[in-house]
Amino acid sequence: MKVLVIGGGAREHALCRSLSQDPAVTELHCAPGNAGIAQVATVHPVDQLDGAQVTALAVLLGAELVVVGPEAPLVAGVADAVRAAGIPVFGPSAEAALLEGSKAFAKDVMAGAGVPTARSYVCTTGAEAAEALDAFGPPYVVKDDGLAAGKGVVVTSDRAEALAHAEACERVVIEEYLDGPEVSLFAITDGTTVLPLQPAQDFKRALDGDQGPNTGGMGAYSPLPWAPEGLVEDVLATVLQPTVDELRRRGTPFSGLLYAGLALTSRGTRVIEFNARFGDPETQVVLARLRTPLAGVLHASATGTLDQLEPLRWDEGAAVTVVIAAEGYPAAPRTGDPIEGLAEAEAADGTAYVLHAGTKADGERVLSAGGRVLSVTATGVDLVEARERAYRSVGRISLAGGQHRGDIALKAAQ
Ligand code: AMP
Repeated sequence: MKVLVIGGGAREHALCRSLSQDPAVTELHCAPGNAGIAQVATVHPVDQLDGAQVTALAVLLGAELVVVGPEAPLVAGVADAVRAAGIPVFGPSAEAALLEGSKAFAKDVMAGAGVPTARSYVCTTGAEAAEALDAFGPPYVVKDDGLAAGKGVVVTSDRAEALAHAEACERVVIEEYLDGPEVSLFAITDGTTVLPLQPAQDFKRALDGDQGPNTGGMGAYSPLPWAPEGLVEDVLATVLQPTVDELRRRGTPFSGLLYAGLALTSRGTRVIEFNARFGDPETQVVLARLRTPLAGVLHASATGTLDQLEPLRWDEGAAVTVVIAAEGYPAAPRTGDPIEGLAEAEAADGTAYVLHAGTKADGERVLSAGGRVLSVTATGVDLVEARERAYRSVGRISLAGGQHRGDIALKAAQ
């Protein structure tokens, strides 16, 4: 199978790494890719938001499967363009991707599907926002309605800050605060059949101890030893399947990856958000544990044949990923710094490896080229071993001004 992956972050590097290890994959391409992806796939300089360009490349390559990684091309209709050319594509239509692209749309779908989530108001004026904030009380949760790469959400007990964020956005969703630990659960779906993956947890705040600003994600681990038994089955029955059924019923069937961000509150499991694609950095740890070859699974989603797939096989062990971000991330990341120690950070036996996010090749050197630069990933028999290996590798990498959290998976490993 000839496969083309769209995107250029650590999530796409993880996807490409798994696809490159699948014996069914005869050719692997990625656009635009990055310096690390270039080691496992042929990279192509294409504007990933341009459906015509992506489709032309897929046709030129004779791609038999196109996998769209990030949300922005999905919301821009890239999967629709490729699908219209008759090529199987992993990823939802622009209409279905609104589940991520509009928080208000997601709330409406959840209401229709009877999916448990935070009570909320959609507000477009400061007066409406003020009323909604006072209806719920602190801590306040204010979400930009549109795509914001995980950075459009403000959670604060400071009413003035909450109101200022609401007023700075055109349309916001203000909702009740959900307490309790968060879980990311991914499911692969073809619009009818829903296949949950293993749960993971990510770390959204920039600094140790969940301090500092929200980011795209600073690390992740899987499995979750503390999660209640039956969590996956429960979320499949109460969240994932009803949502997929509701979207099909509305005439906007969702195929691809449905990401449920969940809060396990004292009053039960609630959906914090949906995403329409693999999460980054959770994908790095989920795919590290998936034993079933990936291409066949994604192809079955793209062709509506998931019901014929054998049950997924998983590694019993654990995986941890630690993100190394550039100085100044998330507010104003500095780019163009050389990265050293990449080869030394890889374990010969494959138990630790470096996935690239914002990097670019400069002759022999690799330079930082984005906010999140690397996603150092390791596996082990348990979280203790996987953590140890991940942090050992992190210690071998040097990036001027580079920052990472020291407490990824720490509590769960204890
Ligand atoms: P989102 O982009 O919706 O995932 O929000 C980013 C982060 O903000 C989440 O991972 C949570 O940590 C936090 N958050 C979002 N919604 C809520 C909520 N209703 N209650 C508490 N925290 C929230």
